[in-house]
Amino acid sequence: MEYYSKTINHLIEELSRLPGLGAKTASRLAFHIINMPKEHVHSLADAMTEARDNVRYCSECLTITDEDICPICKSNKRDHRKIMVVEESKDLAAYEKTGQYDGVYHVLHGVVNPQLGITPADIRVKELIKRLEKDVDEVIIATGSTTEGEATAMIISKYIKPSGIKVTRIASGVPVGGDLEYVDEVTLLRALEGRVEM
Ligand code: ZN
Repeated sequence: MEYYSKTINHLIEELSRLPGLGAKTASRLAFHIINMPKEHVHSLADAMTEARDNVRYCSECLTITDEDICPICKSNKRDHRKIMVVEESKDLAAYEKTGQYDGVYHVLHGVVNPQLGITPADIRVKELIKRLEKDVDEVIIATGSTTEGEATAMIISKYIKPSGIKVTRIASGVPVGGDLEYVDEVTLLRALEGRVEM
């Protein structure tokens, strides 16, 4: 039986596709939305469309940006000879929040996971190796301390080692991979400062 009109059902259906939203929350949000002032709804919809349409990856570090080269890669105040490898753009954001890291980044967009069939070819390792043709002094691997994060770090280190470039790993104690955004800044800085050569 259809309790609501077709359009409301459609909205609930679309919302419930979002991660973490069950049917109940989706219908609560749907009713909230239809009671919002029209202009708010329009600006919400516009913001979503605009973000999705303009999203692109920095052609250097592959972080999410809306320009060809992100502000960090563009900056001449950053040390371009030091590259920190992170799993996702949100990890980059977490390190940026500390305001203490002066190098640049490389975003892998994932980790190696044999169980899910994710190999180094499925994440942005190739692009990292390509970047090492330029002058690079150190690659800091800051993938998470999960099994997959550690495995990814090992694999990347093996690829880089023959080049003679210094490879370091952030100190353990950073609890989980992919969720660096929830780690406090002091812990992040300690992990960075305590990095060890691989
Ligand atoms: Zn960049």
